[in-house]
Amino acid sequence: MLELPQITAPEKKPETDIGSYFVANYPPFSVWTRDHVPAAIEALDGPPRPNVPLGLYLHIPFCRKRCKFCYFRVYTDKNASDVDVYCDALAREIETYSKRPALAGRQFEFVYFGGGTPSFLSEKQLLRLIERINQHWRWDAAREVTFECEPGTLKKHKLEAIKEIGVTRLSLGVEHFDDEILEHNGRAHHSPEIFQAYDWAREIGFPQINIDLIAGMVGETDEKWEMAVAKALAMQPDSLTIYQMEMPHNTVLSRDSKTSGEPVPIADWPTKRRWVDYAFQQFEAQGYIVSSAYTLVKPSQRSAFVYRDSLWHGADMIGTGVASFSHFAGVHFQNVDGWEEYIDLCRSGELPINRALPATAHQLLIRELILQLKTGRLDAGYFRKKFQVEILDEFADAFRSLVNDNYATIAGDDIRLTRAGLLVVDPLLPRFFESEHRDIRYT
Ligand code: SF4
Repeated sequence: MLELPQITAPEKKPETDIGSYFVANYPPFSVWTRDHVPAAIEALDGPPRPNVPLGLYLHIPFCRKRCKFCYFRVYTDKNASDVDVYCDALAREIETYSKRPALAGRQFEFVYFGGGTPSFLSEKQLLRLIERINQHWRWDAAREVTFECEPGTLKKHKLEAIKEIGVTRLSLGVEHFDDEILEHNGRAHHSPEIFQAYDWAREIGFPQINIDLIAGMVGETDEKWEMAVAKALAMQPDSLTIYQMEMPHNTVLSRDSKTSGEPVPIADWPTKRRWVDYAFQQFEAQGYIVSSAYTLVKPSQRSAFVYRDSLWHGADMIGTGVASFSHFAGVHFQNVDGWEEYIDLCRSGELPINRALPATAHQLLIRELILQLKTGRLDAGYFRKKFQVEILDEFADAFRSLVNDNYATIAGDDIRLTRAGLLVVDPLLPRFFESEHRDIRYT
């Protein structure tokens, strides 16, 4: 295993404590409120913004089992008729959006089926859902349609149906190849299902296949991680995503830890960074390129990630489904997270929005800056042109601290994170937050 250079640690202590680590948006979710929902409605009723890319996210909140580290809104106890009820509500929600003035006539540039487990849907349920959505909106012109899959839910004919609905980027939630680790962490699949699903997906000819791994699952060791990286590399995916295991409050593991008084049984942050760094180096040695703190891609046109890059550059995105997040015309909003409430609101033709926040121009600038910093590189010229702000002056203290800690280098407009900086990027981002958002709860 390779050693990381000695660098100041950004967190107060190395252990993986219970709490959020990953920074997905700005301002923090904890300051979004119900009082601001009218701002979201107003944005949706405003004039169309035809030059801003638009995306659609569909949340499919079903899983076969709840992973012990999962913190998403998912259901493991719903039967086929519940799934039908949900898909009907989701189609109704999308229909309601299609009629809002700001969305009328706009095409989706990207579509993302996430979860949960979108591949939990049967072939019939999936095709029926798409048929209903297509009565109001089509995504023929989308540059990318991503579909997340759990390997154990796939059969060849289901993958064929997924391809048929226009999916261009299939994302396989592998997480690990060691069956003991998969079981210990409550994953529903085993390693043979990964290889079978991957072979089918390749035969069917998806333009891009991504596989996800997690560094730091319960039971992880240097040897097992090296084996996982070797197996992932042998599959030669078009892209590989690796997350460092975090432990938010609402997971089975964090609840167990609170009850027992024992720490959560996962590796500390320096170890997880070392594992990710090892994977990065192994993949780079075979020609892959690190495209963000979490992603490696084969250098080809098939490895673009339109969803991520669009969001990180301020695109509009309508998030549909229970508890989904949206960003539209500068307003953040999130749907209700209760099953009944979500279904009832969609059926009545109302948008199921629960909380929102209209971001200021300065907050939108920070949002793009911190999200783009996750790619390991910022172009000050981009921000000058889009926001008329000199970011190296506006955030001089934050950039100086990154350089002093050996997390970044700056040459003219070109700001780059060092490898050590990239591996710790999330805890570095609050340095750019407005002061009232720095020490508050994030979610
Ligand atoms: S498959 Fe994903 S969404 Fe489902 S329980 Fe596991 S981590 Fe959560």
